[in-house]
Amino acid sequence: MESIDIGKYRGIVVLTGAGVSAASGIRTFRGKDGLWNDATIARLSDIGTFRTEPLEVWKFWSAARAISAAAGPNAAHRALAALEKRLRPDQRLTLITQNVDGLHRRAGSANVIEYHGSVHRSRCSNGRCGLESFADSAVYETEVPACPLCGSPLRPDIVFFGEMIPPDLERAARAALDACDLFIAAGTSGTVHPANGFVRHARDAGARTVLVNLEELEDGSPQFMEIHRGKAEELLPLLLGASGQEGRPPTSPRRP
Ligand SMILES: [Zn+2]
Repeated sequence: MESIDIGKYRGIVVLTGAGVSAASGIRTFRGKDGLWNDATIARLSDIGTFRTEPLEVWKFWSAARAISAAAGPNAAHRALAALEKRLRPDQRLTLITQNVDGLHRRAGSANVIEYHGSVHRSRCSNGRCGLESFADSAVYETEVPACPLCGSPLRPDIVFFGEMIPPDLERAARAALDACDLFIAAGTSGTVHPANGFVRHARDAGARTVLVNLEELEDGSPQFMEIHRGKAEELLPLLLGASGQEGRPPTSPRRP
């Protein structure tokens, strides 16, 4: 596989989904052999369930928090972090992730839009409360935590099913796509939201569009100019021209 000549692009947007974290073991608690089945996960990821059974929701997301904290970034995360570090000053990488596991930041990526929030933060469930979202590694299994300011239940700072993407994140994603000349979606189906809308937006902006995903597309995805089937942790380091391995000597900065 030929790597992408990154030096040709200025506005690089990468969207990552669950497939990027699969090699970190993030999905091992799912599926038929997992601790929860997909229907249960969907139920515990719904804002309606949080309103009626907040402790059940917290038990699940506390476990997800612990699993994410115990996992480590893999070669896909590292390749994206390394890419950001070797860009010229006139180039910009915006990493938009649907993953809530925080692994891109832990790998060293700085310009990350956590589109669906982060399992490592909590916030107040009362929208009118002034409490800021805060880093939280606590596990809540016996009691729903209460906001120190207003007493309302605290909640994981993730976007539940049935909720809107926070407007500031949506704006930041749209702005990056407006200025995009290279769009890569990795570890996510190209045909479902938000990837399908993002790739169309990127195409409208004149970008080269690339999909990296393990699963075959049923009906193809005409908005993607290139589709690479395979594991993100294997293909991204190749495509981005980085080994993604720890301990690799730093690459010298590219000259225009
Ligand atoms: Zn509050």
